[in-house]
Amino acid sequence: MHEPALIWFRQDLRLADNPALAAVQDRPVLPVYVIEDGPWSPGAASRWWLHHSLVSLGQALAGLGTPLFVCRGDARRIIPDLAASIGATEVHAGGQTEPAARDRDAETQTALQAAGARLILHRSALMHDPTRVRTAAGKPFSVYTPFSRAAAMGFDVLPPPIPAPRRLIGAAAAPTGLRPGQFGLLPRPDWAGEFADWWTPGEAGAMARLDSFLEDGLADYAQGRDQPAMEDGTSRLSPHLHFGEVSPATFWHATQGRRGTGRDIFRKELLWREFSHHLLWHRPEMPERALRPAFDAFPWRSDAAMLRAWQRGRTGIPIVDAGMRQLWRIGWMHNRVRMITASFLIKHLLQPWQDGEAWFWDTLVDADLGNNAASWQWVAGCGADAAPFFRIFNPVLQGQKFDAGGAYVRRWCPELAGLPDRFIHRPHEAPADVLREAGIAIGRDYPAPVVDLAEGRSRALAAFAAVKGAD
Ligand code: FAD
Repeated sequence: MHEPALIWFRQDLRLADNPALAAVQDRPVLPVYVIEDGPWSPGAASRWWLHHSLVSLGQALAGLGTPLFVCRGDARRIIPDLAASIGATEVHAGGQTEPAARDRDAETQTALQAAGARLILHRSALMHDPTRVRTAAGKPFSVYTPFSRAAAMGFDVLPPPIPAPRRLIGAAAAPTGLRPGQFGLLPRPDWAGEFADWWTPGEAGAMARLDSFLEDGLADYAQGRDQPAMEDGTSRLSPHLHFGEVSPATFWHATQGRRGTGRDIFRKELLWREFSHHLLWHRPEMPERALRPAFDAFPWRSDAAMLRAWQRGRTGIPIVDAGMRQLWRIGWMHNRVRMITASFLIKHLLQPWQDGEAWFWDTLVDADLGNNAASWQWVAGCGADAAPFFRIFNPVLQGQKFDAGGAYVRRWCPELAGLPDRFIHRPHEAPADVLREAGIAIGRDYPAPVVDLAEGRSRALAAFAAVKGAD
């Protein structure tokens, strides 16, 4: 078949193991990316990533013989127009779980059908099919462990990753799209200067990161993943996975021949990602509303000053501040610290989880609607299979346990670097001579805690009593 076709890239910005691309590789093809605005369109840090990922994909496609057409606007109109302009009756794309993307796809499909064409969606962002993996009673899952068992059964028979095409045939009369300088995705002024030291967006960067993690991180992942100071403790593949620069199935296969708890736990994390998207598919309200309706009545104490102190890493609790500053500087935060900072905001400060979710959305390079919403609801205790609300992390003890030598805090809160290990997680309790020797005055060089931890905990438990048992 030699009819031209359109490949519409979305969250699958790669050439290898891309079933949508594989479906069109023998035909004249127009590869397209539409930069869209709308509900939960990428936040500022994600836009930085997207810019570089599109440049990388564009170069890779040009190397195969056809440039990437990038444009900005309403895909529901643009995609059918482009298909008509090159005489394509098929548009291939990877399926998405985001509610707005699903609505957009349904409307695009209607518009295409009216013109005698169709949108064909392929499973490429997930390993499981949210419409097929079901409980014995035929319902969607709401508990992780049985979901992971049911989903993973299918993964042992996942077909091997599809190799990248060696060449592509460009469609005749392909239009010229935006040049990278016109994408409008990079921050102005450029506050993302440090990102480039940490990240290499694009498929080649993703594969290099995967190889280095398999070599240096996977075997020790069981211990390393809980040590925020350890740079290779976790894979740092999350933004690559979110933008689909590497397929999750490629991960699964890459760990196939390996043995050990590191591999098993790593696979469980990949299954949490599948689970979050399973939830998002079946509970599209998840980014905005608590999955446990009783939490709609939770007595939050919205306070702009508290929220700002948290966002800026100025709470006076070192592990929280270190995490929030890591997030701001490099667009990523270690998972253990994400849990601590989220718990502190929700429980000690009683700020709505949606405010934390929104800040993460704007500042994470791996901001992912399914993972972010499910994780915030998990910490808040209002999600599916969530941690109970009454389990409140003490951030000082968490710091002492997971950053015992204080290396993480010293890295991101350098003003505390001179403190001895025993006070690095509680400078407010250090005696005056210790503070003097470390060159720190609380309130001048580093804030006093914005909340008394014991009082904050009691206040959170009292607030929780208001909703307990209500659903
Ligand atoms: P690794 O430990 O190497 O894990 C490998 C992959 O598994 C990750 O890249 C990720 O895709 C997946 N994964 C790991 N942990 C989880 C998890 N708990 N839930 C779902 N998938 C997981 N992850 C995001 O990708 N985007 C988000 O927006 C996001 N927001 C979060 C918000 C909060 C409050 C919390 C507590 C967690 C959030 N996570 C999010 C989950 C997790 O923190 C990150 O996926 C992880 O830190 C990414 O680093 P990594 O790639 O080194 O992870």
